[in-house]
Amino acid sequence: MARICGRFDRLGLDDPGRTCRLGIMGGTFDPIHIGHLACAEQVRENFGLDAVVFIPAGVPVYKKHLEVTPAHHRLEMCRLACESNPFFDVSSLEIDRGGDTYTVDTLRELRAHYPDNVELSFITGADAVLSIIKWHESSEIARLARLIAATRPGYVLSDGQKADLRLHADFSITYTEITALAISSSDLRLRIREGKSLRYLAMQCVSDYIGREGLYQEAAHE
Ligand code: ATP
Ligand code: MG
Repeated sequence: MARICGRFDRLGLDDPGRTCRLGIMGGTFDPIHIGHLACAEQVRENFGLDAVVFIPAGVPVYKKHLEVTPAHHRLEMCRLACESNPFFDVSSLEIDRGGDTYTVDTLRELRAHYPDNVELSFITGADAVLSIIKWHESSEIARLARLIAATRPGYVLSDGQKADLRLHADFSITYTEITALAISSSDLRLRIREGKSLRYLAMQCVSDYIGREGLYQEAAHE
């Protein structure tokens, strides 16, 4: 059996009569922060997901013009961050696949791995909802997985954005409200360059790793 991740490779197999729900959290995770983790945890609770797998992108197509930290570092930070939550795990499948990262390929791989009683839910932050409809093979993405958009209180779509979404009526997105944590990886990278602390913004094990490896010291990302 091909390997997706350590903890949940057998999801659905031991209990064929039950629908199992797997959440997929894609991203660059450069670095992973508590906004990502809280989002995954709250979506897991709101939808009764059995597990959430974080899948760091290899070369994100839409971030090609930016320099991204080597995959093994991003993967290791995700592993460290997820270790203490038994519902979380990390998969290196996008990184191992190499080449450009397309979410549709990842979902196909997951669909081929898991039995039919495993339902896939692709989780994105509210900021990514509008871009997802423009992604490569977006209707195939929607066929393979339920799309869950985590919105924060107060987040409102503009009329133009709503019109954009209506144009893609075949596309069904379930919205769910999560605690607003206005943290981004870009902000964290900037903080590091300015010599500021990441305490309470990233897991301590992640910020220790960043310090040990000397990551994000230079302005290579923007
Ligand atoms: P960057 O600043 O480099 O774009 P990021 O913090 O947005 O980094 P990504 O790796 O781009 O992190 O995001 C991965 C996923 O997590 C996306 O679906 C994004 O919408 C979501 N996400 C990012 N930050 C938050 C947050 N603070 N709260 C909820 N979801 C978030
Ligand atoms: Mg982002």
